[in-house]
Amino acid sequence: MAAPPTPALVLTFEAARRTVEHHASQISAHKTETINLLDSANRILAEPILADRDIPPFPRSTRDGYAVRSPDLATLPAKLKLIGEIKAGPNLAPRAINAGETYSIMTGAPVPPAADAVVMVEYTSQQNGIVEITKSTRPGENIVPQGAEALGGRTLLSPGAKLNESSIALAASVGKSSLQVFARPRIAILSTGDEIVVVDQLPGPSEIRNSNSYSLAVQVQNAGADPVILPIAPDDPNRLRELIEQALHSDLLIDLLIMTGGVSMGRYDFVEQVLAALHAEFFFTGAEIQPGRPVVFGRVPCAAATHPAHNRDAQDSKLAGSKNPTHKYFFGLPGNPVSTMVTFELFARPMLDALSGMPPWPLSFLHARLKSEIRTKPGLTRFLPAIRSGEYSNSHVELIPWQGSGDIAAQTRANCYIVIPPDRSHIPPGEWVAVLPR
Ligand code: AMP
Ligand code: MG
Repeated sequence: MAAPPTPALVLTFEAARRTVEHHASQISAHKTETINLLDSANRILAEPILADRDIPPFPRSTRDGYAVRSPDLATLPAKLKLIGEIKAGPNLAPRAINAGETYSIMTGAPVPPAADAVVMVEYTSQQNGIVEITKSTRPGENIVPQGAEALGGRTLLSPGAKLNESSIALAASVGKSSLQVFARPRIAILSTGDEIVVVDQLPGPSEIRNSNSYSLAVQVQNAGADPVILPIAPDDPNRLRELIEQALHSDLLIDLLIMTGGVSMGRYDFVEQVLAALHAEFFFTGAEIQPGRPVVFGRVPCAAATHPAHNRDAQDSKLAGSKNPTHKYFFGLPGNPVSTMVTFELFARPMLDALSGMPPWPLSFLHARLKSEIRTKPGLTRFLPAIRSGEYSNSHVELIPWQGSGDIAAQTRANCYIVIPPDRSHIPPGEWVAVLPR
């Protein structure tokens, strides 16, 4: 059987992450679909959204008050003649105001011609058709000029934008009741290990229920992709190969393969060997991190396959590109449940984002003050389960006691990871440390 790369390609955390981001940036074309605006939350926009007219379409008053010509308020108090009211909504086109005149105006209403400011109602009083104003103003005050937010025809949102409440509101504001978005990528999940049994099966004394397929399925869904859970692969190279080939070449229309287990140095860890036999190219076979050191990233040729994200349903799809890749990317994540979850977030996530149509997104950390000291061995970048608490700008964090990367129960109590750089063996309490939220 073909051998995986020797020596192992073990990269620093940053180098491994940049490697994934580089490959993610090469992925560009996807199948699209048109969906209802209300169903578009968290989807990735596939069309540009343009301003259908100037925004705002008229000079908009931002206050309830009086529309004035600012020079009329040179001497205070000023007394102006009230010539009418302009409210938000259909208005008879108000006439231009002359010197010494004013309109009462409401928030969101169009400022009449020749008025250059709006005085807040709080600085005015009105009696018998005369408005007395006690505060001066400057040209432009309390008015958003026509087109100041966007000129008609300008691009407001570009393909690749993740749709949230503000972008959906923006689309609504320019009359888009449906949107063209990228199709969700399909991610195959393959758990491996002779000891792994399905959830409904009573495990033998040394058997373990499959939990990784579930955590990965949730992470895949949270990333906006569709999980396809494959049967558990035993530690048998032939069956493993069969299942990997099924994921890569069948009509399951898989965009990316994520395996867990079988990537460590154990005698029954066959994942890399099987992929090598399938002529895989390995970009790394380990990262200097804890948990998750044996993480593997590569791609495997699939000459005959057309990329499903380009070609899932030619009938009702528009292709954003025409390049059919001749390979599929894969991750081999370590089987320990916390390692699986961490390495998915650190490395698989950028590939899922790219397959979903998003541009690569740099990883960034929050910072919080450490509650209790940390002592560890240097050499690895560590992502250790922790609890962040406190409020406002007083945020602190502490490690959760855990039994290592198999401890799912401890992981459920964590709401973040403390990131420990590889050159630190001792971090005293009170120091600001990097935190990756989860
Ligand atoms: P491996 O990476 O195959 O050496 O597995 C490391 C550890 O993770 C072992 O204790 C396995 O039993 C456990 N493990 C592997 N796959 C799974 C899975 N799908 N669900 C839960 N635990 C797993
Ligand atoms: Mg195993």
